[in-house]
Amino acid sequence: MEGELNVYTNIHPSSHNHTQLKYLQLRRQSFNVMTTPARQQYLRIKKQHQNSVLLFRMGDFYETFDDDARTISRELEIALTSREMGKGQRIPLAGIPYHSLDSYLARLIKKGYRVAICEQTSEPSASRSLLDREVVRVVTPGTVVEESILNQDTNNYLAAVVIEGDLAGLASVDITTSEFCTTQLPLDELPAELGRLAPAELIAPEGQDTPPPDKGPEVTYIDLVAFHSEWTKERLLDHFKVSSLEPYGCEKLELASRAAGAIVDYLDKNQKTALSQITSLYTYSTKSHMSIDPSTRRNLELFEGGRWGDKNSSLLSVLDNTTTSMGGRLLKKWLGQPLLDIDNILRRLDAVDWCYQSALRRGRLISLLKSVSDLERLINRVRGNTASPRDLVALQTSLHQAPQIRSILEADADKIQIGWLSKEISAHVEITELIGAAIKTDPPATFVDGGVIREEFSDELDELRHSSHHARQYIAGLEKKERARTGIKSLKVGYNKIFGYYIEVSKTNTHAVPDDYIRRQTLVGGERYITPEMKEYESLILSANERIIDLELSLFRQVCRQVSDSAIQIMSTASAIARVDLFVSFADIAVRNGYVRPDLNNGLTISIKQGRHPVVEHMLPSGTFVPNDTTLSNQKNQLVLLTGPNMAGKSTYLRQVAVIILMAQIGSFVPAESAVIGLVDRIFTRVGMQDDLTAGQSTFMVEMVETASILNHATPRSLVILDEIGRGTSTYDGLAIARSVAEYIHNHPRLGCKTLFATHYHELTDLADILPRAINLNVAVSEDQGKIIFLRQIIPGKADQSYGVQVARLAGLPNVVIKRAWEILAELEGGDHSSPDGELGMLHRPSAQLGEQLKLITSTPSALQVLMSIDIDSMTPIEAITKLFELQRLAKNDDLLSD
Ligand code: ADP
Ligand code: MG
Repeated sequence: MEGELNVYTNIHPSSHNHTQLKYLQLRRQSFNVMTTPARQQYLRIKKQHQNSVLLFRMGDFYETFDDDARTISRELEIALTSREMGKGQRIPLAGIPYHSLDSYLARLIKKGYRVAICEQTSEPSASRSLLDREVVRVVTPGTVVEESILNQDTNNYLAAVVIEGDLAGLASVDITTSEFCTTQLPLDELPAELGRLAPAELIAPEGQDTPPPDKGPEVTYIDLVAFHSEWTKERLLDHFKVSSLEPYGCEKLELASRAAGAIVDYLDKNQKTALSQITSLYTYSTKSHMSIDPSTRRNLELFEGGRWGDKNSSLLSVLDNTTTSMGGRLLKKWLGQPLLDIDNILRRLDAVDWCYQSALRRGRLISLLKSVSDLERLINRVRGNTASPRDLVALQTSLHQAPQIRSILEADADKIQIGWLSKEISAHVEITELIGAAIKTDPPATFVDGGVIREEFSDELDELRHSSHHARQYIAGLEKKERARTGIKSLKVGYNKIFGYYIEVSKTNTHAVPDDYIRRQTLVGGERYITPEMKEYESLILSANERIIDLELSLFRQVCRQVSDSAIQIMSTASAIARVDLFVSFADIAVRNGYVRPDLNNGLTISIKQGRHPVVEHMLPSGTFVPNDTTLSNQKNQLVLLTGPNMAGKSTYLRQVAVIILMAQIGSFVPAESAVIGLVDRIFTRVGMQDDLTAGQSTFMVEMVETASILNHATPRSLVILDEIGRGTSTYDGLAIARSVAEYIHNHPRLGCKTLFATHYHELTDLADILPRAINLNVAVSEDQGKIIFLRQIIPGKADQSYGVQVARLAGLPNVVIKRAWEILAELEGGDHSSPDGELGMLHRPSAQLGEQLKLITSTPSALQVLMSIDIDSMTPIEAITKLFELQRLAKNDDLLSD
């Protein structure tokens, strides 16, 4: 039956429709016999790849059957057919031509499928009825190498998570750059780290309760054995050919090594070639970086804008002026991992400063960087044997820039600033010379027609080319020669695929044909001949061509191997160039946008003069953003209560402070006149529901859980941003919680962290009188005949009015409604001295009652008394949380009293 299937091999599809037709006819013939061995082979292989779409190579097509056929027909819009097999059973099938695999594969992977590619692994022969077939690769979102699927500026991580108790091991690999890392961390920090990595694929042991990454892929569960401690250790030792994991730093971190071992195992099963290129493992600690949890990443719009409804309104997009894709990827990495070590930050700032000081330097570096391709992925393809001739040339061009970049870094007298980096860049003279000598400047994309290797690189090749050339010349001169010899003026030399070269003579002249002509074909108007001599030359040409192509390929592989020997140095150069790119980019952005070098220290004070929000500033017409100062410290201005009407600029101010600190700690200049920043260990943000764009999935419960996490993890070095918390519930509950949280942060000895709290609860401004380290600020507005004017200026003191009605008017509410609102407001204010608030719920509440409620929280019955008085059955979860806060506080008080 296979003999029949192999008819496919001869289809060279010209038009798709034609191919489909012909293909269907052929399939009809061959599948009559599909019931037997091939079907069984298919079912056997499919059984091992249940979670994947199995592409089963049959000649020039990848076939899918059964459910897989339905899937790909639906997802790829390919005709679904079916075939009768055995007793009235019909098997659905759908196939894709082999040469279109890449594009179909890309679409399937993007839709989240795993695809197992099963190839024919034996040559068709007459004696064997069934070809061997084997799954050579399982393509999953985390193991793709196809350029068409990958995003240039993004690492493509495969991650593995193993959890035990409240600890987690997290390993990640990018097989396109061979970066392989692992870490062990507290379970509650896992979401932040996963959020940073944003893996394309996440694997975990079966049965483990694994938190899915923020907006990430679904977790792929793997057999538990793959994560087993003995097995994974064995896997790692075996892969790296070492006897201890000590050199990799994870010998004593069992979960970290288990996660890493599981990755090795997974690659071994799905992407063997990639595995052979992984030559090191880096164990890192999440403690050396500021961890940014997913909600903070979102709230600060680090990678994706949201509030301004524009994809390009993220901090990343404002900061990215990198030239190379390596620089682009590095920026993403740095933005997700602000540093906690002051020396490292200063080193980066020094380097940026060095670029900042001279436009000439920047210009020269940028023009060199423009000729640098993605070295990391290039060298990876060279090592993986998938590089094309053009890849090698791109590698050469890129490496050619290396010594020039280095000499710019070294040339300057002020070497301390960036000289350290130049040491990591090698000149790579041998490599560039080798590629230059071996590969033609503008080589073809493939080896099909040869012409890749330069003359004078290999004597053997030159000789072959020479004799092939000689033979071609003989054939080229044959027509003239034979015409002269035979005297037949119309004699022609031609070529076709079946007979090769021939001599054609018209009927009228056949009598003049010499004896050594051998007749091969009779045509209507003439005869075709060959001569033994010309056939000799012909076979010379053909065999020489074949040998030339073989030889070129083997020379190419040899060059690739030699280049691979320098992989480590090339990767080091690549990594240094990526950093140069990023430093230049930071400097360039700083010059363009008027950023300054921040002054970082180990103190606890933050003092920003005339700070701006880099993204909001970017979105507004130039010069219209109003800068503001910030002073925060643990002694005096620890808790800032920021009030002001809606739309005044509260949220912007809060985020601006956080973003400036973050920028400083990744080594960038900052949008301000000056900034003195005591190192911050973590930035927490909690944004109330109305202000949170992803509110769709948010609930008050989520808000409280996140607030609780802040209270549990913040340290005196942390910065906490609370934007309108407590909004998602009734005014009473919200106010109570907001106040209680503020007090807790202020008073708790472990916390005492710098906090910016924007709130529309004007009652909270009283806190500034009670709590010694709390102050009130507000966003200035002025009013002109009932019309509000936003001044965007942050000034001391509390907002005296909420301007809710004015803002409503600004928003375009009908005049009648506005007028009526003024009336109601006047009525309410008549019996109530507290300022009205935009929230209607507030308007209806006499403030005396509010005071009572707050007293309840701050008065001191014993914890036990309160606990006993709770009617648990009638409580909402929100009330329960409020009660819990209260109970804990009371319990602590009780503790103090009993001492
Ligand atoms: P709030 O949180 O007080 O409701 P936002 O911070 O959301 O206000 O700001 C509302 C809008 O005001 C922003 O979208 C921005 O266009 C503008 N804005 C905020 N701060 C400034 C500023 N300092 N200078 C200029 N415009 C600003
Ligand atoms: Mg706001």
